[in-house]
Amino acid sequence: RSSAEKFEFQTEVSRLMDIIINSLYSNKDILLRELISNASDALDKIRFLSLTDKEVLGEGDTAKLEIQIKLDKEKKILSIRDRGIGMIKEDLIKNLGTIAKSGTSAFVEKMQSGGDLNLIGQFGVGFYSVYLVADYVEVVSKHNDDKQYVVYVWESKADGSFAISEDTWNEPLGRGTEIRLHLRDEAKEYLEEDKLKDLVKKYSEFINFPIYLWSTKEVDVEVPADEEETSEEEDSNPETTKEEETEESEEKKAKTKIIKETTSEWELLNDVKAVWLRSPKEVTDEEYSKFYHSLAKDFGDDKPMAWSHFTAEGDVEFKALLFVPPKAPHDLYESYYNNNKSNLKLYVRRVFISDEFDDLLPKYLSFLKGIVDSDTLPLNVSREMLQQHSSLKTIKKKLIRKALDMIRKIAEKDPEEYINKDKTDEEKSEMAEKKGQYAKFWNDTKSDGKLASLDEYISRMKPGQKDIFHITGSSKEQLEKSPFLERLTKKNYEVIFFTDPVDEYLMQYLMDYEDKKFQNVSKEGLKLGKDSKLKDLKESFKELTDWWKKALESENVDSVKISNRLHNTPCVVVTSMYGCSANMEKIMQAQTL
Ligand code: ADP
Ligand code: MG
Repeated sequence: RSSAEKFEFQTEVSRLMDIIINSLYSNKDILLRELISNASDALDKIRFLSLTDKEVLGEGDTAKLEIQIKLDKEKKILSIRDRGIGMIKEDLIKNLGTIAKSGTSAFVEKMQSGGDLNLIGQFGVGFYSVYLVADYVEVVSKHNDDKQYVVYVWESKADGSFAISEDTWNEPLGRGTEIRLHLRDEAKEYLEEDKLKDLVKKYSEFINFPIYLWSTKEVDVEVPADEEETSEEEDSNPETTKEEETEESEEKKAKTKIIKETTSEWELLNDVKAVWLRSPKEVTDEEYSKFYHSLAKDFGDDKPMAWSHFTAEGDVEFKALLFVPPKAPHDLYESYYNNNKSNLKLYVRRVFISDEFDDLLPKYLSFLKGIVDSDTLPLNVSREMLQQHSSLKTIKKKLIRKALDMIRKIAEKDPEEYINKDKTDEEKSEMAEKKGQYAKFWNDTKSDGKLASLDEYISRMKPGQKDIFHITGSSKEQLEKSPFLERLTKKNYEVIFFTDPVDEYLMQYLMDYEDKKFQNVSKEGLKLGKDSKLKDLKESFKELTDWWKKALESENVDSVKISNRLHNTPCVVVTSMYGCSANMEKIMQAQTL
């Protein structure tokens, strides 16, 4: 296009595109669901705006909140169009090329170490999957705010740059976005209607807007017939004259004939069912799984670990469906520290409102995915006002209860699974802080290779034992050899083994549980009951400990003490009460590498 302005892709984006273009990844199908998901997001946005301003929807076809897929077999173009919010020129420049999201480099890294391209949507770069099948892509868009009715076109052959121009030769677009994929020769299958129908069924079943395909059909058309042809038809199709048929219809048949004609029409591919509104009894496990994949943009093979689907009644009515993902999300740490965003989508009477309500779930549960659909919240107010609505507190309370119920059930049912999967989640630290009884741990002496909960530990504590003893390290085997355990084991105290890096973080939050303090046995402050000899020993070795402290210089050690914590080993280095354990130092060092 002559008036086109040229832009370079941001470096990371460019790298990402190279990876996608050269990918030998066989499952190219994912591109369709990414485009449909973007279309659906854009439609959600305009529908939300229309709650407070009906005008924004426009009139006629523009007002239809739907997604349309069209194929041009001759020109080899697959296009996906929505009447969503659209993009202004700056949006096209920023969103599709010049600004890298945090997920961009994360995804590039993942791909370079053999990651699964299927997860592209989770990293917020799903759009670029178009280059799995196309070598040239146009994005034609008209934003709702753009009062001048300028339609812009973004285009790129994925050669490091893209161009933006005003669209002058296309018919007026109304509002929304049309993505045109000029398919590569190897991707011709995406021009087959059946293929696209299958893909929508498979991946986009739970999209909340109707998805249409411009499909060609052969239909029977009745046309007047001359006698010659009528007899021909009767010859070739003798069963049509059946005994039951009345004379009248016989007569009619004689005057008309049926011919095949191809026509095109919009065919609806999905039935827009809101899973969460259905009764849990009617929803199959597979449907829950598929809904989770679509909701979380997590198209891995795993099923969600658990889900909770319920209706809350009373003053505040809502339906909710919560999932525990099969794996910790890739950006768990980042999203945990950098924003409060919960992964819940809030709907009011089936209208998507926001997935950025930080007040729906506490931070420590932010790893859950799900949706909440409220009947009580008002529809026609701003997001800010909704955020302050009093019902939200009640919703939050009920969500937390259900969420913890769900998590407790996992812990009870299958502690192994719980510990292995969930322990990699950093949120565990805060969760355990609140609900220590759900945590399950290895411990040494009494464990018999089984996991125990804190409650079990406490029930087995020795008379007079005040603290919960634990030790942190990299493996059970390593910890079993620790000199810190010598005396404790000898005296038959049980010690909890923390072997996951996250446990170290957890212990910074988890100070006590059921009024019992946590005592890391490799730290200062270990009390093993009264020892009358200790005072005398301290006295008689004072000279030695003083000398030793001086010899090590005060920067290297805080103090040198006589203690009764050891049995065979003559001495150990102990961490101060509030210091970093040796294990924690190791973990932190590994992280900075
Ligand atoms: P994500 O959808 O996770 O944000 P994508 O790479 O799929 O990441 O899309 C990038 C951005 O491009 C979107 O966030 C959105 O701003 C914009 N975009 C893509 N497709 C559309 C569309 N059909 N309508 C409006 N904006 C779109
Ligand atoms: Mg997307």
